[in-house]
Amino acid sequence: MNWGLIGASTIAAEHMIGAIRAQSGNVPAIVLSSDAERGAAYAKAHDVARATTSLEEILADDSVRAVYISTTNEKHLPQALAAIRAGKHVLCEKPLAMSAGEAAEMVKAAKAAGVVLATNHHLRNAGSHLAMKQLMDDGAIGDVLSIRIFHAVLLPDHLRGWRLNSAAAGGGVIPDIVVHDADTVRFYLEEDPEAVSAIERTSAMSAGVEDSAMSLWQMPSGVQVMTHESFTHPYATTGFEVHGTEGSLHARNVMTQQPVGQITLVNKDGAQPVSYSAHSLYERSVQKFVAAIEGQGTPAASGVDGVKSLAVAEAVKSAAQTGQRTLVTYPEMGK
Ligand code: NDP
Repeated sequence: MNWGLIGASTIAAEHMIGAIRAQSGNVPAIVLSSDAERGAAYAKAHDVARATTSLEEILADDSVRAVYISTTNEKHLPQALAAIRAGKHVLCEKPLAMSAGEAAEMVKAAKAAGVVLATNHHLRNAGSHLAMKQLMDDGAIGDVLSIRIFHAVLLPDHLRGWRLNSAAAGGGVIPDIVVHDADTVRFYLEEDPEAVSAIERTSAMSAGVEDSAMSLWQMPSGVQVMTHESFTHPYATTGFEVHGTEGSLHARNVMTQQPVGQITLVNKDGAQPVSYSAHSLYERSVQKFVAAIEGQGTPAASGVDGVKSLAVAEAVKSAAQTGQRTLVTYPEMGK
């Protein structure tokens, strides 16, 4: 299957081009950049046959069945809608759009066109998280009481552009990382946060957008969730904990793009390490998307999942700005 890469991005270069090539018969065939010279250099550097500055050229190409969208966030909606209208299957980066309402338009359009729309939430593809989810589902920690997520990192120098200085491009740690944490919580608990409280901070690193956030989420089941996201923490290391009546899972360094981290199951018998599959998160995301196109199963994270993670992030932003506990509003997405 030929793919169109919409966006000459870092994430495509570092993870997704390789993840697409890892699927038998899948080829990143053409890349879109707004700058012809940069696009040509990018195509050459990553062995992509063609570069273009025309989205229409990609969408008119019948040999391209799927597109991967990894432009800055404000471009996702128009590019995805155009691709869907052209009959292409769409794997889109998170956040799906600038608002959950816009993202819901993508879901509705994909349903109407009969194409697959998936969100590239990588964490639910991690062997570490899959192993913890399995243990939780098997009753290893009893009834779940709470989840704590530590997702405060130091943003690498090469990513310190629009994420820190452009609200218009979807910058800020809330659209960037809270969406991942929301998707992770929804993956574990299989329910949608109903209300949030939050604070945010903008440090000297950023220009106008928040670069740290902390929030508390109320789940319909009563499970309590706390999350911490930041671009400014050099030494915090990431973590995930889920606590239950019969045990706790403590995981360090698992809110990451790599198949790494340590998991410990703690219960009345003491502390035991948990092993897991160290496969590529992004390869699994692409593999599930390709299988869904072939009619086998569903993507790891669907378009609906992308809408819901964004709705939680919106509520966190609103709660942080108003200082008020905020109900999460999930847009209508049709049947
Ligand atoms: P980049 O900043 O690398 O790329 C975004 C756009 O910026 C590109 O489409 C490109 O525009 C332009 N650009 C990139 N590098 C340069 C450069 N050197 N000079 C000028 N313009 C440049 O963004 P990321 O790869 O970090 O993120 C892209 C998307 O992917 C975002 O939506 C982000 O949220 C998401 N993301 C998801 C991750 C995940 O794990 N799921 C991880 C990281 C990002 P053009 O295409 O026009 O050339």
